[in-house]
Amino acid sequence: MGRIKVLPDQIANKIAAGEVVERPASVVKELIENSLDAGAGRIRVEVQNGGKRLIRISDDGIGMGNDDALLAFERHATSKLREVHDLLSISTLGFRGEALPSIASVSRLELETRSADDATGTKIEIAGGRMLTVAEDARPPGTTITVRDLFYNVPARRKFLRTEKTELAHIASLVTHYSLAHIDKTILLAHEKGPLLNVTPVESLRERVYQVFGSSTLDDLVELGPCQRELQVQPSPAPRTQAVSRHKEGRDQPRQQLFRLHGFISQPQIQKLNRNSIYVFVNGRLIRDRVVLRAISSAYHNVIPPGAFPFVLLFIGLPFDEVDVNVHPSKTEVRFGHPSFVFDFVRDQIRECLIASKPVSTFPIRAEGSRVAYPQSATDLSFSEASLALNRSDLPESMESFLRHEAPPTQRMDFGAAPPLDVSGAQPSAPAFGVVPDRAGLHILGSPDTPIEQQTHARDPLVDTPRESMAQLGQLRPLGQMHDSFIIASGHDGLWIIDQHVAHERILFEKVRRERAQGRTESQRLLLSIIITLRPDQEITLTRIEEEFRANGFELEPFGHRTIAVKAASAGLSPRQVETLIGEILDTPEKELRELSLSDLQDRVAATIACHAAIKVNMPLEPAKMQWLLDELARTECPMSCPHGRPIALKYALKDILKAFHRI
Ligand code: ADP
Ligand code: MG
Repeated sequence: MGRIKVLPDQIANKIAAGEVVERPASVVKELIENSLDAGAGRIRVEVQNGGKRLIRISDDGIGMGNDDALLAFERHATSKLREVHDLLSISTLGFRGEALPSIASVSRLELETRSADDATGTKIEIAGGRMLTVAEDARPPGTTITVRDLFYNVPARRKFLRTEKTELAHIASLVTHYSLAHIDKTILLAHEKGPLLNVTPVESLRERVYQVFGSSTLDDLVELGPCQRELQVQPSPAPRTQAVSRHKEGRDQPRQQLFRLHGFISQPQIQKLNRNSIYVFVNGRLIRDRVVLRAISSAYHNVIPPGAFPFVLLFIGLPFDEVDVNVHPSKTEVRFGHPSFVFDFVRDQIRECLIASKPVSTFPIRAEGSRVAYPQSATDLSFSEASLALNRSDLPESMESFLRHEAPPTQRMDFGAAPPLDVSGAQPSAPAFGVVPDRAGLHILGSPDTPIEQQTHARDPLVDTPRESMAQLGQLRPLGQMHDSFIIASGHDGLWIIDQHVAHERILFEKVRRERAQGRTESQRLLLSIIITLRPDQEITLTRIEEEFRANGFELEPFGHRTIAVKAASAGLSPRQVETLIGEILDTPEKELRELSLSDLQDRVAATIACHAAIKVNMPLEPAKMQWLLDELARTECPMSCPHGRPIALKYALKDILKAFHRI
């Protein structure tokens, strides 16, 4: 008698549920996807107790006839996949036929559905995978699925569910994702205390971003694309990965695959504490993919500080045979046919978009936002807690904190919320800057009450677009210096404060990189060689970096046991600076070094040189020198953040000044 038995369906479903259903948000995900696949125009999601007590999703999709309703709970029952080769060109969101039976096996589920062709609908009740009742149901066409008491029969899993707030945050984030990907749908999310998200069909992604995040977030974003890039796929005897189609005829011909990209990305002053504000969709499917996340980090490298994250909303479109979505049961991971092509495409487009927008930091006008500290760079800066307010959206309080769902306060770097400017005479009862009441009848940008069309078309003449602000930077007039560290300058758009050290650092960083690329770095011969004794680990690091040193004008020669003589160095550095700079670069941990790409390494070296050669804070400057600095800064590609990601300039907009003096 053999020992191997086929598992009864009920057990198999429960096991599959372990993969598909992790928490209430996974149920919401599967059910929303089903509603979208069913062609619904309106989807309503209702939850109680963070989805632990109840999740109800109603749609106005095609619904199911009586037979289909019963079949839907059979394992691997799906209406979306007929043949194996369909797997390579999946356009629907679901296809595994696992969700409904899995969810039904770990909850009390009620399905009410009716297809438009039928006179009556069907109602089915299931608990723990056991069908309890099947009845006729009078209801409009469409489907409502209610999932109660998730994991009531799997106490071990139920124990692992987090607090109501956390589970609700996951659900809110998820529904937000789908609302961004499907701008033509009405989507409502509600919990016990009322609606959390309520969006109606719109024409453009911009309008949807406004509906979901509010106008203040939209103001800090730059639209990316739409853009595209072609990949020539050479015929190869064997496909590179499963994702690359083999069944297509004409596979001996080189093929042209078109990759598309569009979305919104944040300017450098927006710095989030985690990746929760990165929304990536591949062919409309929400994904978490390391290739894309790395490409985003790489694009923001040297623009925002390490450890900070941007807001990114990206839609990547690619031929179905260039991506395999069937690598994970919850379908959030994908495998690209040509990952490095996707990486380059995403990184380059974000970079270009960032450079083109030349973003400008304005004063953090709302004092109540959370604050992020910038990691200290290896400079002798006298301040280490320069901080910027995280942007906050104009969503109702509850929604905003759900969407943000940052690390709990204990893990958060919080450095208090100092008011941005002390404006004596400002009305004490007036709200924070930026939300001053509309007394003069002007449109106030940033007000959630102003409809989006008005916001974009009726632009406030007192507020510059980022591009205009950059043009201003070239026309600034230095008024003087504060604390021998910050240049105060006036422009016709407001008052500017420029951090002299980081401004110079950005100028030098771009100069070093440019000259390095053109092979004409400025080098200086040292009168006396500098002798440096290395630790064994530094000696190994040196072998990796030596070439990069040479390319930047350094001449290093062996000088006995574990000692080197520095005969020449990049121009503009004092001997002491040369010594500390070399020590600093050689102290890069070996592991970190191995993971750096060549261009990252080049940037790292350039940033270190720039940082050491740049003028310091606490240094008086002549007016001519200040003017030179402002002019040079205006010529850089990315004048608004230093290579370590700190902001360079702050602007107190004329409009805010006028408001503070009650002139508008
Ligand atoms: P899959 O989505 O992978 O096909 P599911 O278990 O999620 O598998 O759903 C099984 C089938 O039930 C679907 O293929 C579809 O035919 C039907 N179905 C599920 N939800 C809905 C819905 N909201 N409206 C219409 N049909 C649905
Ligand atoms: Mg499904």
